Amino acid sequence: MLTTRISRISAGTACLVAALAGAVVSSAAADGADTAGEAPTFREFEAATYVDVDGAYVVNGDEVVSTRAGLRAFYDRMVGLPFGNHDRDTHDADLVVNTVGGVDDKWSSATAANLTYCVSTRFGSRHAVVAAAMSAGAGLWEAASSRVNFVHVTSQDGSCNVRNNSVVFSVEPVSTSQYIARAFFPSTSKRQRNVLIDDSIWSSGNWEPGDILGHELGHVLGFRHEHTRPEAGACFEDNNWRPLTPYDAASIMHYPQCNGSSSDLEFQASDAAGLRALYGS
Ligand SMILES: [Zn+2]
Repeated sequence: MLTTRISRISAGTACLVAALAGAVVSSAAADGADTAGEAPTFREFEAATYVDVDGAYVVNGDEVVSTRAGLRAFYDRMVGLPFGNHDRDTHDADLVVNTVGGVDDKWSSATAANLTYCVSTRFGSRHAVVAAAMSAGAGLWEAASSRVNFVHVTSQDGSCNVRNNSVVFSVEPVSTSQYIARAFFPSTSKRQRNVLIDDSIWSSGNWEPGDILGHELGHVLGFRHEHTRPEAGACFEDNNWRPLTPYDAASIMHYPQCNGSSSDLEFQASDAAGLRALYGS
């Protein structure tokens, strides 16, 4: 049963997150019974959380938390907020932006217009197709707003890692069974600002590489998973987000396996509208 909810973008951690959220969901949605005892302790949660190559914790399938203190805060939010107990009226509002301390997690207008990145030459023979897929994913968002522009700085591809200060972020290969790709948010510290891509991106069925990277670049722009909204009824994450447009179960930011209405992870008009709502047109 749970395996049907395992993300194809990320396996293990999404499974854990789904299991934790599921326990809370059933307590709130089913009969209101007190099931606080079902949640794992922080030690259990930490022990079960995937730690990435750079030492970052991976949560919600394909997002990073940089520090143990950050993971603790993430855990506290998860166990402290029962599903459905949303303070804000979110029912009329789609794409959602991450918030940190109640403030939108977004780039300055100057950085949004010049989101530079490199594509590591460590992709080897795949380098050109990775660069093309990144360009395709970036193009989805760029076509929606003149304020957002991703720039591939090819001269940095030979030293493409999180320590390269000539680019905003790096795109690097990873070998993992935990996810297909993962990204970061604008508030993520520079040392963990990379998009990591596993070879499984080339064998992901009807999820095209350009769309998978479009989803990851949605996180890079500050967007959360659409399925954390109460309307999804599955895969709730937390309440640290602000709605930008009406709920769309087909959003590129909505995992299809979380009660999504689209199986192909394609970019929607609602995603374009959400981008313009946050960054302007
Ligand atoms: Zn994601």
